[in-house]
Amino acid sequence: MSDTWTVTVDRERCMGSGICLVYAAGTFGHDEEAKAIVIDSAADPIDVIRVAAEGCPTAAIQLAPNDGM
Ligand code: SF4
Repeated sequence: MSDTWTVTVDRERCMGSGICLVYAAGTFGHDEEAKAIVIDSAADPIDVIRVAAEGCPTAAIQLAPNDGM
């Protein structure tokens, strides 16, 4: 179901805490600067990704529905 959502990380906000990787390891990874990147936005259930987004200390993760635009 999560393939109906676009998941993005604001690199300017991300401070590399890694919390999102703990919650949704299939979705998020770290790049060479320890900034979070989206590996596969369909890898984890959207509820798990939402928890990861809510747990981000800098609110760097955005979820946007792909439909209803
Ligand atoms: S939880 Fe937020 S600040 Fe931490 S790595 Fe993920 S996006 Fe970056």
